[in-house]
Amino acid sequence: IERTLSIIKPDATRRNLTGKINAKFEDAGLRIVAQKRIHLSPAQAGQFYAVHKERPFYGELVEFMASEPVVVQVLEGENAIAKNREVMGATNPANADAGTIRKEFALSVGENSVHGSDAAETAKEEIAFFFSGLELV
Ligand code: ATP
Ligand code: MG
Repeated sequence: IERTLSIIKPDATRRNLTGKINAKFEDAGLRIVAQKRIHLSPAQAGQFYAVHKERPFYGELVEFMASEPVVVQVLEGENAIAKNREVMGATNPANADAGTIRKEFALSVGENSVHGSDAAETAKEEIAFFFSGLELV
């Protein structure tokens, strides 16, 4: 059994889509084992996305992620990291498969509704970034 870090991004929380997105996770067999709504500061968003520091869209991404509240969550299940990325769909909603979260809800490649960890090591780091041991059972 595996865990991954998921973020419901500001474009989705703003449009009241948290429940609809969570239903997609649950329908795919992913269990939401921790969840909270937070408003990141630009510094916190910048730290979370530090790996993209040199990319041309970094400033825009950080500003967007700190613009309004997000819902951060830990999803658990068999192959949770890969399964979550499958349910999310391609980064650019124009390339996302039918039925995926990004196909149904994303507004653009930047405002694409969800984040999901991309590997076991990053999942571990990203979960620890947002959740303490006491919050994880
Ligand atoms: P995430 O890491 O959010 O799960 P991802 O792994 O599909 O998404 P990355 O390549 O890691 O995509 O990019 C991180 C995020 O940066 C994307 O989800 C998106 O919000 C933003 N982003 C990526 N490419 C662009 C771009 N060309 N223009 C604007 N924003 C972008
Ligand atoms: Mg990524």
